[in-house]
Amino acid sequence: MGRKNHRNAPAPKEGAKSPRTRADVRKNAEDHRIRNVLLLIGAVIGSTALGVMFKGSNDATFDNTTSPAVTATTNGNSATHPAASGPNLPPDFDEAKLDILIAKIENAMTAFKAQLNFDKIKHPNMKPGILRLFDLIGNNAKNDLKNYGKYKRAEASTKDLSATRVTTRPYDFSYLVDDSTLDSLKFVAAYSHFPRHMILSSDFNPNSPMDLLAMLHEATHLGTDADFVLDTRNDPETLRAYLHFYTHEPGEKKKCDVVDEAKAWAVQTELLNVFLDGDLEKLANSMSVRQIMDRGESHRYEDILKKLKIENEEEIYSFMGLLLSAKYYFAGPNHDNEFIDIIAYIHEKLGARLFVMDKNKRFVPYKRKPVVELE
Ligand SMILES: [Zn+2]
Repeated sequence: MGRKNHRNAPAPKEGAKSPRTRADVRKNAEDHRIRNVLLLIGAVIGSTALGVMFKGSNDATFDNTTSPAVTATTNGNSATHPAASGPNLPPDFDEAKLDILIAKIENAMTAFKAQLNFDKIKHPNMKPGILRLFDLIGNNAKNDLKNYGKYKRAEASTKDLSATRVTTRPYDFSYLVDDSTLDSLKFVAAYSHFPRHMILSSDFNPNSPMDLLAMLHEATHLGTDADFVLDTRNDPETLRAYLHFYTHEPGEKKKCDVVDEAKAWAVQTELLNVFLDGDLEKLANSMSVRQIMDRGESHRYEDILKKLKIENEEEIYSFMGLLLSAKYYFAGPNHDNEFIDIIAYIHEKLGARLFVMDKNKRFVPYKRKPVVELE
């Protein structure tokens, strides 16, 4: 997830304040506005699998694995896709500049963590997982290959990254700035499975709490991914099925693990609420879903936007996405399924197919309930 200060951002807004006289006109306008909101929320949501762009890396990571099952999958994919040895460095990739950005991010995360009172987390069972995300980012500071440029050189010279990543340091990841991946999607951050790349836009701002939250959303996926690969490294069939799930054919519709997405949104929602001293929850409880979707109500949260240093339209929409999430997340006990379904709904609107992991650790299609008030 993540908003983005997109340089050529399409103007989102239309007539939140324009008068509407006929009911049908009003409905159309609202539908359109909701669509815009969701498109922009889309800008914010990290894809669970940017497999199209990074498919090659994914395959290469497992080229030398000792698991025949995984190798078989890899070979199959390699045959289909000649670029399986991995993408070259993105255009304008600047390794030295990235080193500086990484240092800034690591410092900013440490400072952000120090600023937050984790005892204010609303659902206490979220606390260990959230703290772990900060640890994950902190521990990665020692990763020699945290700069994608260095990672690519290691990949080219040793071809044995699978060993280091899956066994010795399973939670290591590499940072990469790549607007060519992110521009069309308007992400500020995204995560690529298996090789574990944290992809950032060139205007990712380590001083922006919203951007740090976006990265923590992606770190949630990273943690889930690394856990799974570690847990199933001796279960080639299961690992192969998982690899296949997160490997996209070109043009294939995105796939989304709704439970993992809900977890990542919950992380962002909790932390934003802690950062705002509980004001996110209060605001969400004071507004209906309709009001949240209606920019005409933005006067309700002007102070919050100031506190978050949010200035442009896209960032406002990102905030609205989290406000919508909060509306369901803070709805009280017994509303977990509704929360999962609103997250599923958002991802579905973004064009993803919905899945959930079954008891056998296989992804099966997920059927959500209609969202009350929106459809
Ligand atoms: Zn996500």
